[in-house]
Amino acid sequence: TRFHDLGLRDELMRAIADIGFEYCSPIQAAILPQTLQGNDAIGKAQTGTGKTAAFLITLFNDLLCHPVEGERFLGEPRGLVIAPTRELVMQIAQDAEDLAKYSGLKVVTLIGGMDYQKQLNRLTSEIVDLVVATPGRLIDFMGRRDVFLDRVEILVLDEADRMLDMGFIPQVKRIVRATSRREDRQTLLFSATFTQDIINLSEQWTYEPITVDI
Ligand code: AMP
Repeated sequence: TRFHDLGLRDELMRAIADIGFEYCSPIQAAILPQTLQGNDAIGKAQTGTGKTAAFLITLFNDLLCHPVEGERFLGEPRGLVIAPTRELVMQIAQDAEDLAKYSGLKVVTLIGGMDYQKQLNRLTSEIVDLVVATPGRLIDFMGRRDVFLDRVEILVLDEADRMLDMGFIPQVKRIVRATSRREDRQTLLFSATFTQDIINLSEQWTYEPITVDI
């Protein structure tokens, strides 16, 4: 499958061309036709498979296709990506900036161990479309009422098994609960392994998902 054949928004297609992607990787070819229709998805995928582009392309295409009608407010993202480590969040955010560059969509990164005030300034200087965050720092922002998740339309949980191993599941549960009901959002969950714990969580968090195993 070529990206050209997926019917993506032009702003996104131009960014993909600039990055140099032409053909979908296997996970992208399997998942995008479904997720671009709004379906939830559970993906069994390692890093290196192109899963990041798969969820970011879904996310940006959906946001571009469904502009918000009414007023928008500071600190209310439409898309949220949660990942276990700083490094992973920074990599995802970089890929997101590259893909969003012609779209006018704004990406903010919230990670622990870095200056809270600086991240808050970015979050409140403009309307933010996508937040990419580690669980702990996002909980801090929610607790101080600097970020609100009830308008999240698309939720991505990346490397769910590592979040479990690192003990982040209580935080992730709080984060998921703060978003809209699963019927009202699109949820994409990725994990390299599927233990019974991960299967149970993915069943709770997704709604009629498709499953992709690459
Ligand atoms: P990921 O699995 O998301 O960590 O991505 C692994 C690498 O593959 C990244 O360096 C991406 O830039 C690259 N990549 C993702 N999708 C494609 C594609 N369709 N064609 C070529 N490279 C890709």
